[in-house]
Amino acid sequence: MTASFDPAAVIAEFIDAVAPYNPQPDAPPVALLGLRTALGDDTFTLSDHVIRAMCKALESYRDPEDRGECVECGGRHLDENLRCKDCGRLHGILGQVIADHARRVAASGDGHAPSEPA
Ligand SMILES: [Zn+2]
Repeated sequence: MTASFDPAAVIAEFIDAVAPYNPQPDAPPVALLGLRTALGDDTFTLSDHVIRAMCKALESYRDPEDRGECVECGGRHLDENLRCKDCGRLHGILGQVIADHARRVAASGDGHAPSEPA
């Protein structure tokens, strides 16, 4: 395990950030979370309020790499140009323009492949 980032500190910070708003601060914890990292072992008691806050945080989180699913293979790794890293399918307006252009070139039968802009 690497020690570039302290996972225990992140969890502790999350708990500290939401705990003051727990409507039932005296309710018993619903989970005991044991955490082993390169920095050592930690244990956290999690209230129902913290778990619900995690659910809400997850709902509102979107990974910066999440650009949707490939319509061709269902892969979830589209690059910044919306090209599927798994099967190569292009998505979005660029993908549509290139697909249309390739169809026109193929239909014209002149044998020239679409050229890359310089
Ligand atoms: Zn794909």
